[in-house]
Amino acid sequence: MKIGCNCGATIFDSADYLPQKGHLIPDQDWFDVYDAIDDDVIDKVADGTLTKEAAYMKAREIIGSKARLMWQCVGCGSLYVDGRDGQLHGFVPATEETDRRVLAGRSK
Ligand SMILES: [Zn+2]
Repeated sequence: MKIGCNCGATIFDSADYLPQKGHLIPDQDWFDVYDAIDDDVIDKVADGTLTKEAAYMKAREIIGSKARLMWQCVGCGSLYVDGRDGQLHGFVPATEETDRRVLAGRSK
């Protein structure tokens, strides 16, 4: 996948561990994710109704079902977020000093 930024740059999304890509979980869904992991993963592993391997997949499914993708253009810093409507929404940086790597991981 690639996104054509308004500045003329192209944002590529063709690998994992991308420093310009993030996964957004809205705060209004955050505790639903915690509750689903507690109820549908941890409790079921604890009571023996879910295998460890199935738990891995279920946890990822829960998180993935609530997360939306976002990307940042490293050229101009614009953010592009998958909206609730399934459309891509663009946001421009407030200043020239705005971090161009705001989505990069802490350890990368
Ligand atoms: Zn750009």
